[in-house]
Amino acid sequence: MRNLALLLSTLPPFPFHPSLLPTPFLTVSRSALTRNLEGMQSILSKHPKVRLRPHVKTHKCVEISKLTLTVGGAQGLCFQVMDELEPHIDRITEFDDANKSPHNNKLDFMLTSSVIGKNKLNRLKTLVNNSSYTTLISVLVDDINNLKQLIDLSVPLGVFIEIDVGQNRCGVNVDDIQGLKTVELLAKTIQDPTNKLEFRGIHAYQGALQHVRLESERSSLVQAQSVATAEKVKNYLLQSSNITSPLITGAGTGSFLHELSGGVHNEVQPGSYIFMDTDYLANSNPPPFEHSLWILGTVLSNATGRACCDIGSKAVDLVSGVPKFTQGMTSKYFENMEYESGGDEHGVLSPTKEGAEILNVGDLVHAVPCHIDPTVNLHSEIAVINDAGDVEDIWEVHRSCGR
Ligand code: PLP
Ligand code: MN
Repeated sequence: MRNLALLLSTLPPFPFHPSLLPTPFLTVSRSALTRNLEGMQSILSKHPKVRLRPHVKTHKCVEISKLTLTVGGAQGLCFQVMDELEPHIDRITEFDDANKSPHNNKLDFMLTSSVIGKNKLNRLKTLVNNSSYTTLISVLVDDINNLKQLIDLSVPLGVFIEIDVGQNRCGVNVDDIQGLKTVELLAKTIQDPTNKLEFRGIHAYQGALQHVRLESERSSLVQAQSVATAEKVKNYLLQSSNITSPLITGAGTGSFLHELSGGVHNEVQPGSYIFMDTDYLANSNPPPFEHSLWILGTVLSNATGRACCDIGSKAVDLVSGVPKFTQGMTSKYFENMEYESGGDEHGVLSPTKEGAEILNVGDLVHAVPCHIDPTVNLHSEIAVINDAGDVEDIWEVHRSCGR
């Protein structure tokens, strides 16, 4: 919080014009953000049995979490790392207005990761104790020894069994009967009444398919991988041991419409829909969300005839592709301008055609990233822009290298 206080001490009182922000700076349009929250609810209103558990990894911001749980229709939250969960538990009393009905009148927070290593196991125990038991924290497991470590913490925890649904990273491989028996053993161990764990269900998330461009191909791969595999495991547990899986959870922005039509998942975990990025909008028939987050930059020079701005690789993630620039806080891209990295702190905007927009020194530019989550993670704050175009608030981002 010290950094935010220091930053605020250099700024005028709210509201003020964004040109007074130091750039590069993340800016979110409150109205576009609200439309994305509403858009998600409108889609899910047609699937009343499916819960929404948005992923905090996209925004890493307590204020946005509160919005998703109060006006965004969310019934719980996903976190990827402890560094995201801890600030939320720190400020848990601020979640009073949140939707607490979903699970035994508790907030329903889930880490979409196994908790491995002494440091993280100790922190998990502290988090459960500090949440004053008003929150059920759930974690993933795919390994029996790790499950025993969770039991040994001797605090109430929810547990999901993670299965591999085709991404080949974590999760029990259930291609053969041995894998199914591993899932069965994990489920029975979680359900053993001598421990404090609660079996929450199956985690079936396939991230790679979200970027398959063609909708028909994306849809059939999702059915064949995440949906079919989750269904197989759910049925096996029921038939072999009469174990019901309360939740079948997974699915992000690029694919959740297909998991919804698969009818097996009863919870979805989209994160990027809140801000969107150019990669998801490049899919054929993308879900109906709009850009709500821009990196505000400043033109530093046009001495070479190409505008050089202050958005370099420390302000925008370039791994998946380069950012696009828009005409203000809109989704209308400048078509005649191309971004090229100018290094850590510089980005060069070249006109691709005659008649391209001329950018002068000191002009503000608006960039939308190709991949939103790692871009947000490069920043410590987000400025909230109101309908008049002014900064009305600044929210802290809990960036992390993934701990
Ligand atoms: N769930 C899990 C387990 C994830 O890893 C991610 C993103 O990587 C998401 C949900 C959210 O996906 P998206 O940001 O694409 O909506
Ligand atoms: Mn992502």
